[in-house]
Amino acid sequence: MELSLIIPCHNEAENIEPFVDLIQACMDSPDAPATLELLFVDDGSTDGTFARVTQMMECPTTKRISIKAIELSRNFGKEAAMLAGLESASGALIGFIDADLQQDPAISFQMFAYLQHHPDTDCVAAVQEERKEGALRRWFKHRFYAAFNAVGDIDLPANASDFRVFRRNVADALMSMPEYFRFSKGLFAWVGFHTHTIPYKPRERHAGSTSWSFRDLVHYAVSGIVSFTTWPLRLVLYLGLLTSIASIIYLIVVLSEYLIVGISVPGYPTLVCLLLLFFGIVMLALGIFGEYLGRIYIEGKRRPVYIARQMRTQDLTQMSCAPADQGAHPSQEDDR
Ligand code: UDP
Ligand code: MG
Repeated sequence: MELSLIIPCHNEAENIEPFVDLIQACMDSPDAPATLELLFVDDGSTDGTFARVTQMMECPTTKRISIKAIELSRNFGKEAAMLAGLESASGALIGFIDADLQQDPAISFQMFAYLQHHPDTDCVAAVQEERKEGALRRWFKHRFYAAFNAVGDIDLPANASDFRVFRRNVADALMSMPEYFRFSKGLFAWVGFHTHTIPYKPRERHAGSTSWSFRDLVHYAVSGIVSFTTWPLRLVLYLGLLTSIASIIYLIVVLSEYLIVGISVPGYPTLVCLLLLFFGIVMLALGIFGEYLGRIYIEGKRRPVYIARQMRTQDLTQMSCAPADQGAHPSQEDDR
């Protein structure tokens, strides 16, 4: 296969057929690969997404596409679904694309064609020109990128997503990172390689609604920072230093007022304020340590990032559009 497109799906049943139709329409473009593998990873959907994908496998309309479907044993999250796809992709070039039609497959093909013509480039990333989302979300994401780049150990290109096409060397590098808490934007930045960016405008979601709540996004952002930086731990050290210096200065001021001027400082309000301040700082420090400790604990268990329930592959070049009990070849199925 010239290109494998990995499509993580969580409750995308209504989008599978339109997605495959759109891909078929794009196959006429001069940028399109000669052979394409569509690798749907059903990330614990409850709306029959996997069944829709297997239905699509039974009735192909172009011989240049083959569909593979992996069903995960539960919802492991998009990052885990992406890794599951990577580990099963057979294409020389590999790409990620969402199932909801917000990302145009024609752009995946443009990225593919760019890599074909530029042997020196390893990865092409599509960067959102404008975000189709609420002002609060947009502001939050903007602040996140700014904060991450200001203090993080690696630089994330603003608005770069996982809508990309890349070579095997990049895929191998991504797979060599076995961490449980995966943050693709950071992983792509961390592995490096020659990356070219192209702008794109996301469309409206075709059907269904986003699986990401605002809380998920905050969680994802914290996870990204904790996965790729150790500066919050250093921040605790600096906070500790700062408060120690401040308390020494305060002690000197109080002592000199008492010894030189003879003022006795009213102790109670000062004590309450200082106690609250230091208690707050200690709790903050414990919270930050806890975030890291929790991650070390979970990573230490070395649990798999995902568990596949089943995988189906079907070579559509052998298929004809016929009722399942007559013409269709039985699909391979391996329970893992
Ligand atoms: N997705 C997934 N697992 C999840 C959440 C999302 O595989 O737990 C998939 C989803 O089906 C879609 C892609 O990840 O194909 C992007 O998700 P979504 O459209 O909800 O995110 P947004 O576009 O709002 O960032
Ligand atoms: Mg979406």
